[in-house]
Amino acid sequence: MKTVELFGHQQVREDLLTAFRSGRLPQVLLVTGGAGVGKQTLSRWLASVLLCQGGAAAAPCGTCQGCRLTNDLAHPDFHWFVPILRPKAGDPDKQVEEVKEVLGEIMAARRENPVYAPPEGLTMHGVASARLLLKTAALTTVMGGRRVILVGDAERLVPQESSQEAANALLKFLEEPPASTTVILTTTDPGRVLPTIRSRAVPIRLGRLGPDAMEEGLAHYLPSLSATDRRIRAEAAEGSLGRALDASASAGSLAQADQLLAICRQGGPARFERVLKQGSFAARGEFSSLLDSLALTLGAAARASAGGGGSVVEPLRDVAPDRCLAALGSVETARDSALGNVNPHLILATLTGELAEALWA
Ligand SMILES: [Zn+2]
Repeated sequence: MKTVELFGHQQVREDLLTAFRSGRLPQVLLVTGGAGVGKQTLSRWLASVLLCQGGAAAAPCGTCQGCRLTNDLAHPDFHWFVPILRPKAGDPDKQVEEVKEVLGEIMAARRENPVYAPPEGLTMHGVASARLLLKTAALTTVMGGRRVILVGDAERLVPQESSQEAANALLKFLEEPPASTTVILTTTDPGRVLPTIRSRAVPIRLGRLGPDAMEEGLAHYLPSLSATDRRIRAEAAEGSLGRALDASASAGSLAQADQLLAICRQGGPARFERVLKQGSFAARGEFSSLLDSLALTLGAAARASAGGGGSVVEPLRDVAPDRCLAALGSVETARDSALGNVNPHLILATLTGELAEALWA
């Protein structure tokens, strides 16, 4: 069984399946919802429903060629557009080729690592992306079935910036896509999607993920995290699996925060030496992610010990909430110092002393 891994959104999935089976699934959809809740993943799942060859009642069956290829991001009739940097080529045809290549590289990377970061500031779906989309949609499908076009971060769809003609062609296409084609747009911010595009799409709203779906998702992507770490991540990310995974980008920093707290609690003159042995913080990013993890851990412990529920790591068990908050204040100060380019080892020397004092003195 191999279908697109998707966590939560059970009701939306059922509604979409019901619409699909009764032949009432709209051809142009706009999936909205907060960052990291799984809008594009849900869209990929819907693509596998549409491209499944196992019959409507079973879709997505997870065993047919259509399901497998969609899951592997290798289906010739599934096209996933993500925002990219403006092509370098001057010639419009060469630009379209360049977009195709860049998107191919991004898909290859996502096949290797399905967790990806939010789009960077300057990326967009420009005129060359729109032209590629239209060109693709004009061809007959490779496998003779349906075609699915997914446009992620659709608020970045701005073909009119350089070609009104391409923009008009795109709108005409969205007005009346070929019968075999389904277009799924996604956005965190429907208000920023061009109104002319928005008005042509049927909205599908995804809410935040519940605790079970968050834990399931984290267990899937980060099986090495401890159950407590998963809970802390899940609680802090407020229903966004993407955010929880992003916070875990530098693997092990939560565990490092646990270790650092354990050493601070033991106290003694050799404390600082032992903290230093825990790891080198040569990379500034690594050091700031340790500070982020410390803040997460202390925040979770403060909430839990104040009766707000949630998870506490072992070194912070039975520590009063106001002590956790005082320690959190020291971490915030350390963060400011880190931004101000103070040497990480100096910051740690001060911080470990302050943490021991605030939490256990
Ligand atoms: Zn199938």
